[in-house]
Amino acid sequence: MKSEEIKEQVVLYSKILDQKGLVNSLEGNISIYDRENDLLYVTPTSTRKEFLKPEDIAIMKGDDQVGGNKRRSSEYLLHKVALAARPDCNAVVHVHAPYMTAYAYCNKSIDIRCSTTFAILHDGIPCIPYGLPGSLDITNGLSEAIQGHDIVLLANHGLVCVAKTLEHACAVVEATEEVLKIYNLAKTMGVSNLSDEDLEAIKKAKR
Ligand SMILES: [Zn+2]
Repeated sequence: MKSEEIKEQVVLYSKILDQKGLVNSLEGNISIYDRENDLLYVTPTSTRKEFLKPEDIAIMKGDDQVGGNKRRSSEYLLHKVALAARPDCNAVVHVHAPYMTAYAYCNKSIDIRCSTTFAILHDGIPCIPYGLPGSLDITNGLSEAIQGHDIVLLANHGLVCVAKTLEHACAVVEATEEVLKIYNLAKTMGVSNLSDEDLEAIKKAKR
């Protein structure tokens, strides 16, 4: 992908996530990593995603910003660590999606057994301990956790999702958030879980 195309994709998906209420001016950032040139294209800090323009997207080479009109999000460190741990992935979505983040606020991993979507997408979603936002602290435990899971919760903060493409990372975040929203409704009615055999069959079909 060319630089212009990458920036346009970051803008497009920022707006889609904004429309869905999954990011706001102060929370959430997304990126695409151009592995070939070692350039990370990440959303800037404190900008309403709705107003983002391609030239606002920050381009990072390591810890140096080499492009973009606006200062990179301080949370680019999350993206950098997650992408280093997952060479199969080129995109990161970091959001504070309400239903998933509720678990993070409670320092709880997510392991529900009632949803086929959840079973297809995840083998549980772990929660790593709290770390100070904007510092390297925030990434403690992220490398290990994200190697086995596409979404990892950050205690008292939000979540990180990695995927091959930004489209797929957004799709996984949206679908998982929807599942948890429904689970929250279903909980009050008495959820019926899938059996071990059913879950095993879903995992098998996935392989
Ligand atoms: Zn955050």
